[in-house]
Amino acid sequence: ANYKALKPNAQLDAKLMKELQLREKRISPAIAECRQRLPVWQARERLVAAVNRCDQVLVMSGPTGSGKSTQMSQLLIDSAIATGHGSTARVVVTQPRRLAATALAERVAEERGEWLGVSVGYQVRLERKMPQRLAGSIVYCTVGILLRWLESDPSLASVSHLIVDEVHERSAETDLLLAELKRTILPSRPDLKLVLMSATLDAEQFCRYFGPSSESASVEGRLYPVKVRSLEQCLSESNFEFFSKSGSSLTSLANKNRQAMQNRLRSDRIAPREARSRLAERERELRLAANEAVKKFQLSSSHADLLVAMGCEEPPVELVAHMISYVHRTQPAGAVLVFVPGMKQIKDLITLLNSDSACSNGCHVLPLHSRLPSRDQRQVFLPAPAGKRKVVLATNIAETSLTIDDVVYVIDTGFAKLSGYHHLAMSDSLSASPISLDNARQREGRAGRVQPGVCYRLYSKFAESRMPHRLPPEVLRLSLEDFLLQVKLLHPDLPAAEFLAQMPDPPPQEHVRQAQHLLQELGALTPDEELTPMGRHIARLPLPCQLAKMVLLAVCFSCLDPVLTIAASLSHRTPFETPLGAEQEVKQCKLQLAEGCESDHLLLWLAYKAWYRTKRNRGLNAAYDFARRNYLSPTVLQTIEELKAQLTDQLAQYMSMSDQFYDEEAQSESSVHRLELIRAVVTAGLYPNIVRCKSLKSKKAVGRPGEPSYELPQGSVACGFEEPAWLAYFEKCLLNDRRTVSLFDASLTRPIHLLFCCAQARHSHECGVQLAVLDDWIRLAATPAAFSTVLVLRHRL
Ligand code: ADP
Repeated sequence: ANYKALKPNAQLDAKLMKELQLREKRISPAIAECRQRLPVWQARERLVAAVNRCDQVLVMSGPTGSGKSTQMSQLLIDSAIATGHGSTARVVVTQPRRLAATALAERVAEERGEWLGVSVGYQVRLERKMPQRLAGSIVYCTVGILLRWLESDPSLASVSHLIVDEVHERSAETDLLLAELKRTILPSRPDLKLVLMSATLDAEQFCRYFGPSSESASVEGRLYPVKVRSLEQCLSESNFEFFSKSGSSLTSLANKNRQAMQNRLRSDRIAPREARSRLAERERELRLAANEAVKKFQLSSSHADLLVAMGCEEPPVELVAHMISYVHRTQPAGAVLVFVPGMKQIKDLITLLNSDSACSNGCHVLPLHSRLPSRDQRQVFLPAPAGKRKVVLATNIAETSLTIDDVVYVIDTGFAKLSGYHHLAMSDSLSASPISLDNARQREGRAGRVQPGVCYRLYSKFAESRMPHRLPPEVLRLSLEDFLLQVKLLHPDLPAAEFLAQMPDPPPQEHVRQAQHLLQELGALTPDEELTPMGRHIARLPLPCQLAKMVLLAVCFSCLDPVLTIAASLSHRTPFETPLGAEQEVKQCKLQLAEGCESDHLLLWLAYKAWYRTKRNRGLNAAYDFARRNYLSPTVLQTIEELKAQLTDQLAQYMSMSDQFYDEEAQSESSVHRLELIRAVVTAGLYPNIVRCKSLKSKKAVGRPGEPSYELPQGSVACGFEEPAWLAYFEKCLLNDRRTVSLFDASLTRPIHLLFCCAQARHSHECGVQLAVLDDWIRLAATPAAFSTVLVLRHRL
């Protein structure tokens, strides 16, 4: 119903106009006043005129908090309705993140005095609440969702105004959308208006990209001032001393940070001698800058030592905790929003704050991380319990488009986890890296939205002077397989390289070739670069390509439930939690649940199944206890259940499957044959992520000569054997020494499974096995036949 084209309808125009007039009377004066103070609202006539006047594209910049995300959509829809064009107006706003999309829709509905789902709605993965009517509505969605819509509505016939918010973030999906808009959508829809917005964008760059059909506009002014404090000011104001009892902390901090700097130089391929001289030069500069800071900010000599030891690297968590405590003890009421790189720092901070007497009693500490279930994420919008100060520990999920209305203080560590891709080791890595000045400005802008604020930057003026203005776009950093499949789905007949060359920043050809090679190995692309039937299905499932393939194989071989559990969990996160100090207990629980299967993947299913059965037979409370006893996170398990339901829906939709594929009872028996089949399907899905390894006693697996060695995760259940063996894995990451690859998960696999997966791959002839599974495997839903094929293979071995 979403994809109907908008058609002029005079009756509807009149009706919408009447509703608009009624709405204006209904809105509460407080909210109306709040809106009217926003710079974007004050410039409304100019902005709406600019959108109407421009050919197709308006690039709009305005400081954080000026009202872009909440006001532009309303201004555009209201002006269309007021001028009698309501029936052909529908504004869609894309956001880089789910949380922002849902929170903004909620706020805008509130500002319009409506419930969500009347004329304002949202759609994000796993959740949607769409407006009742197409015409005259506003929808907030993620970029990924909009790309999905394009499949059935390729010219966006159901949209009159598209707003791409936070366009400066340049996620791979946003870039894909921009390229698609420029290539296909805008030329076919001369009436479509596109607005690109951000507080920190290079308007000229986007105008250049879209050419003469684009114009730019900007708004000035922010509602409330934000004072910015550098690390030097933070140190002198809060009087932080970083000395452990042994006094060795500074040395080890300096070593750690020197190592980080060295690693960065190495990844930039700087020769060792050159790297050494640059390091020495950097240390000299740091010392000079620290000496100046001592004079200017009246710092102690130990502060200067700390500035030198930290260099341009992440501040120690002790300093972050100290600043939170300092703000809490000395500053007037107001919530604190702290930006840290990842979950680990959040956990460490929670521990430190718990041991700080002022904070543990007086603060209400909330984590905010993209992997938390959305219910938990929304907690941050609620007020803290009476008499407590809210402290939100967030990753860069909170960096843009978010208004937490009581935030007065922002503490910024200056670091974020960025997805990067090491094309040498072919692995995605998530390492903490320094942010850019743009990011810093966005972070600072989370304060000063409802009242004046303060931003404490835990990096020195020197570190700031070394920050880049903006980070390179994601397509230049990421592995491109899933991206290529999306491109192929949009343009099956176009060589992907041709499309990529028209992106705002085309990725290097070498990266494209690597991705094409992997997709061919997976059987998703033919050597002529055409999507195979399987490739098309893979591209449609919202999963990384290897997991999508695994799920599709599971459909064929009738083991969907277990494999879907494994894929959902690998794409989201493991339900296992390892509290500090409880590593042994967790391992014990895992081994018990794993029933000797020596597979971290099967373990995911076995653990989920045990939890699910408990829930079904003995109720929620018993399931909760079960999860806690086994170091499983009930919320993650719950999310896996939701993900599975959503994926099942999509499979049914895309493949016209009936429920027979999802017969839970039949799926859940775990005879030896079934486990073997699941193992084979998992291995086949993960292929070519397979390594040959020697003894795992030392927890090291050795790959082919010249390859790095592999390290198993600490809690893996796949490490009980001593024979040389094969391991299949999903995720890996390159360690800092750049010779060791750390696997995040592993399954012991046997030749039978490999043979099965080779039969899926293009090497089938090499193995002497001719299975016609690859090309028309999707027709091979004759399950018993497929199953016996596996048994025949097993027999041959
Ligand atoms: P921008 O996109 O320019 O950063 P927004 O449109 O997101 O700005 O927000 C503009 C202003 O609207 C905020 O600074 C704040 O004053 C107000 N606002 C937005 N959302 C909320 C909310 N959930 N609660 C209270 N005020 C809000």
